[in-house]
Amino acid sequence: MNEEHPYDFVIIGSGLGGLECGYILADEGYSVCVLEKNHQLGGNLQVFSREKVAFDTGVHYIGGLEEGQNLYQMFKYFGLMDKLNLVKMDARFDRITFNGDKQEYYHAQGYDAFAKSLIEQFPEEKGAIDEYCKTVQEICAHFPLYNLEYSQESYLEDKVLGIGVKEYLENLTPNKTLQAVLAGSNMLYAGIAGKTPLYVHALIVNTYIESSFRCVDGGAQIAKHLAKSIRKMGGQVLKRTEIVRFEYDDKRISCAVAEDGQRFYGENFISNIHPQDTLDMVEDGRVRKAYVNRIKSLENSVSAFILNIVCKPGTFEYQNYNYYHHKDLDVWKSVDEDADTWPSSYMFSTPAHSQNQKYAKGIIILAYMKYSEVKQWENSLRTVVKPSERGEGYEQFKKGKEEVLLKEVEKKFPNIRSCIKSMYSSTPLTYRDYIGNSDGSIYGVVKDYNAPLKTFITPKTKIPNLYLTGQNINLHGILGVSISSLVTCSEFIDKKFLLEKIRKA
Ligand SMILES: Cc1cc2nc3c(=O)[nH]c(=O)nc-3n(C[C@H](O)[C@H](O)[C@H](O)COP(=O)(O)OP(=O)(O)OC[C@H]3O[C@@H](n4cnc5c(N)ncnc54)[C@H](O)[C@@H]3O)c2cc1C
Repeated sequence: MNEEHPYDFVIIGSGLGGLECGYILADEGYSVCVLEKNHQLGGNLQVFSREKVAFDTGVHYIGGLEEGQNLYQMFKYFGLMDKLNLVKMDARFDRITFNGDKQEYYHAQGYDAFAKSLIEQFPEEKGAIDEYCKTVQEICAHFPLYNLEYSQESYLEDKVLGIGVKEYLENLTPNKTLQAVLAGSNMLYAGIAGKTPLYVHALIVNTYIESSFRCVDGGAQIAKHLAKSIRKMGGQVLKRTEIVRFEYDDKRISCAVAEDGQRFYGENFISNIHPQDTLDMVEDGRVRKAYVNRIKSLENSVSAFILNIVCKPGTFEYQNYNYYHHKDLDVWKSVDEDADTWPSSYMFSTPAHSQNQKYAKGIIILAYMKYSEVKQWENSLRTVVKPSERGEGYEQFKKGKEEVLLKEVEKKFPNIRSCIKSMYSSTPLTYRDYIGNSDGSIYGVVKDYNAPLKTFITPKTKIPNLYLTGQNINLHGILGVSISSLVTCSEFIDKKFLLEKIRKA
């Protein structure tokens, strides 16, 4: 493909959204080229290995993958369902725990089981628990695409967008423990008190309550299979190709220019990278200042510090469920926490491995971390493609944080140290460098129920042939991004036709 014969679509970034758009468009007969800056495809689907143990970087479990459920149907359409190596998690897939409370509180799969296990633990709260289950399902029914349904009506005026999750839970029940348990997995959406809408909570927890699965040996298999299918349909997927700017033909983009000077000509361009960073690649003056300012002013979600532990063989039993552990019942404070009290909450998960089912090969512990904590090293950059050192000070910082986090984890798992063979940690800078955003934000733009429409970003930009996809359009997460891909591709393919095709897959 060249200037005379441009691709129909040049897609920048091979995160889930970029690959899914590539698949949908290639399947409709368009010529596509997906360009990825990293050595590995997949963005947050990437895995890395240490001492032959694979660690996921951004997908620890996936909801909605049981036959008949929304993501199952989409993944079936993407040709993934018979290829992925998945394990269904235990009935009680998430366990919410607190320092000083020996009780483990359960989130169970299936609404009946979910309600039943909570009612066993909070018998006097049956009314509130039933009401919660009903509300979550009713809210999900408000979003047609989430249910793979076609609708011309816009839900943007819907009043559910303006309800806050914390406020909803406080109105639901005066029982502080139940409130904390229902919001206990709010790391799934980096929930912020006074900001996070109830609909974000509902769309995300609903998918895991419906069904929860782990990818065996990591989520990179999703990217691998999608890329293979795109290539099979005649598309191109190129690694180690970082796009740095565009060139123009009148008002339209003519090509995306890579760092090494290669030019990729296209009729249309889809950016799978953060809209703020996409705009940085656009020449000044090409889009109105008001649009740039609006996008640039959007707040991003917090980043994370992740401790990846290689276990001594046969020392720590594999847990087919996750823990969300909190210091106390205020499960909202850790998202905006200072270093002196850190970490008030963490997620604890043992990845599923094909070779050893009884014992964990690794443990992943995720806690929030603000970008400001690592800002002093922000002039460094380290990826497989661009290896460099951040310096001794940074290594010391990481060691210090590993120790603080482990001390907190030991309160719940007193023997954990004796299970550790080695440890590796990542910081907001790791996410920034591998994903290519400016602050390591894990879930992109923050949704705010006080100004719901402000945080909606459409796939269309002010440049006629530049479109957006990925977690900032619609919603983050494997399901949210898959729906974003439908939203973006519906700009080129009749939405009704596409949904029909997915439903019939
Ligand atoms: C710590 C963490 C845990 C998570 N856990 C879960 C979970 O358990 N379940 C779940 O459903 N979701 C989870 N998520 C969310 C989910 O992983 C993401 O929402 C989703 O993968 C984002 O996909 P995306 O399409 O937006 O692309 P991204 O993953 O953001 O990928 C963007 C891609 O663009 C590439 N790129 C950037 N700049 C350029 C450039 N200039 N040129 C070329 N390429 C470029 C990047 O290298 C990257 O590959 C988690 C996320 C994180 C960070």
